Amino acid sequence: MEEEKKDDNIVNAKNKKKEKEKPGLNKHEPIFGILDPKKFNFSIWYFLATLVILMVFNSLFFQPKSIVTIDFSEFKEKIKSGDIRRVEMGERHFLGLPLTKEETKQVNSGEYTGQKPGDLSQRYRTVRVDDAGFVKLLDEQGIEYYAKPPENKTWINLIFSWVIPIIFFVIVWRFINKRMGMAGQRVMSFGENRAKLVAEGDTGVTFKDVAGVDEAKAELVEVVDFLQNPQKYHAIGGKIPKGVLLIGPPGTGKTLLAKAVAGEAKVTFFRISGADFVEMFVGVGAARVRDLFKQAREKAPCIVFIDELDAIGKGRGVSISSNDEREQTLNQLLVEMDGFDSRDGVIILAATNRPEILDPALMRPGRFDRQVLVDRPDLHGREAILKIHAKDVKMDKSVDLKKVARGTPGFSGADLANIVNEAALLAVRAGRTLVEQNDFDNAIERVIAGLEKKNRLINEKERKIVAYHEAGHALVAAFTEGADPVHKISIVPRGLSALGYTIQLPTEERFLMTEDELLGKIDVLLGGRACEQLFFGKISTGAANDISQATEIARKMITDYGMSSKFENIVLNSHKGPTFLSTPIGGGQREYSESTQQYIDEEITRMVKKRYDKVSEFLESKKPLAKKIAEKLLEEEIIEGKDFKAMLSEK
Ligand code: ADP
Ligand code: MG
Ligand code: ZN
Repeated sequence: MEEEKKDDNIVNAKNKKKEKEKPGLNKHEPIFGILDPKKFNFSIWYFLATLVILMVFNSLFFQPKSIVTIDFSEFKEKIKSGDIRRVEMGERHFLGLPLTKEETKQVNSGEYTGQKPGDLSQRYRTVRVDDAGFVKLLDEQGIEYYAKPPENKTWINLIFSWVIPIIFFVIVWRFINKRMGMAGQRVMSFGENRAKLVAEGDTGVTFKDVAGVDEAKAELVEVVDFLQNPQKYHAIGGKIPKGVLLIGPPGTGKTLLAKAVAGEAKVTFFRISGADFVEMFVGVGAARVRDLFKQAREKAPCIVFIDELDAIGKGRGVSISSNDEREQTLNQLLVEMDGFDSRDGVIILAATNRPEILDPALMRPGRFDRQVLVDRPDLHGREAILKIHAKDVKMDKSVDLKKVARGTPGFSGADLANIVNEAALLAVRAGRTLVEQNDFDNAIERVIAGLEKKNRLINEKERKIVAYHEAGHALVAAFTEGADPVHKISIVPRGLSALGYTIQLPTEERFLMTEDELLGKIDVLLGGRACEQLFFGKISTGAANDISQATEIARKMITDYGMSSKFENIVLNSHKGPTFLSTPIGGGQREYSESTQQYIDEEITRMVKKRYDKVSEFLESKKPLAKKIAEKLLEEEIIEGKDFKAMLSEK
């Protein structure tokens, strides 16, 4: 219990910035214990109130009531008249008391027999005057007198000389710390990891708050299940994955998904950003990784989420100036991931939007063996996301979120959230209490303008080209004997580069391919560009990847598979170069003449041209169908395999 409480206070540097008002305390920094703002304010007010009350009490009750302040001359009179029988000489005052010491004792014991019992408590005070004759007067009158030692108000002294300076110091300290951001704290505890422990349900996000990324969601639902019911998987002998890597463009909801996992999982959840590991001191990051995993193992079953993994996971030795610190951190991460068994009940979740720069070692089995694509949402996904974000926005009946979704192709979840907010702001600016459809239209325009500047959106014309391109692929695939059936056609930009894609799934696993099948593959690859040319009369760069693949197949047919007419059954490529596990690296040595090379080049050109002409001819004959498919794609963005089939059989 106690342990848990402490850990709650370890604060992630990033989070601290976000949740500005929640600087927590670190268990290794006891001085911060009183700095928790809530507790802090609380206690200081209590303290001040107590102080004031004590002072009031002090003056009310500890000061005798019946003191009369009088002039010095009057004071002397009282001495002469016998009203004062004892004098206390303070630093700044004289205090006249009506009884001598002896008499006071008698009064206390009830033996007093003197006069004026009614005035026994009457005291006189006067400002001290340096009167040379005063002591003489006292002696003459037989008055007792004594000097009072300087006042010794110990507790007030204590407060002024210790407590207040300490409080002051602490406040200044806190201020400086805030000013320096985390720097101050970091120096205090730089070996400590900054993973934030998010208790279950703590994030306030659940899977319901995430839409449009159903595959990723399904994967993560399973991860949560792994941890909640491990016996289910162990009983059947299954191995639980150690790491799941969420890959996707910025703003598609990777962090959100991880938060949802935290919200759903009934297990401990650590969250840390890759950047938190990277420090100016070499070795700190590695220490943090070690510490994080140690904590995770203690808290198992649990999930560790490393956001922005690329900050530490960059390929080693890629950059010119190698960063020792980062490499050490990455190595430590790899070591730790190898070092635990998923049966320990720890699953590592990570997110990145730059998978291409990650060190390949991270992807090896036993590390992030599952990679989940968190991609930009399609039409339906966008509508669902808009619905989520519009939930708390008051909207006019005119608003059609479907239409908004239609107008926002290629937008990420974050962009859509932004649109809803923009629309609401525009409505407020227009002095309305409800958001209307034209607010959304204007919001889309504004956001599009911003995104276009950032080069993240394709325009309508390009989108049309992509649609016809994909339609070409799909149509050729559908009518090519032996080609894998079309599973899905999409013009939702995928990942970071592809603008659209057509997925063909093989019906069975293949180890051999016939010459015809290889040619069919080339046809399908060429179908995209051919269709572009057919409809627009020009070709685009969008087919670059297709034609390089087609060329590669054609080359292999000639050089490796012996499928050319001149070099039938002869391999033209030798693999005598350096090899690694019998795969040639660096291409190998050419073992044929210059003229043969020329022949190969010509043969490839001839072959590809022939196939291209054939495909073009075919598409020409199917022009209306191609148009129909492309238009449907523009409308719906995605055509599933079965719908595609239905379109083909339609007349
Ligand atoms: P990433 O980590 O992938 O860059 P975030 O998870 O930080 O993206 O997303 C930023 C914000 O955008 C989220 O807080 C959420 O409001 C919104 N958002 C992004 N994707 C989705 C989604 N799939 N469903 C709902 N909201 C989303
Ligand atoms: Mg993120
Ligand atoms: Zn293509």
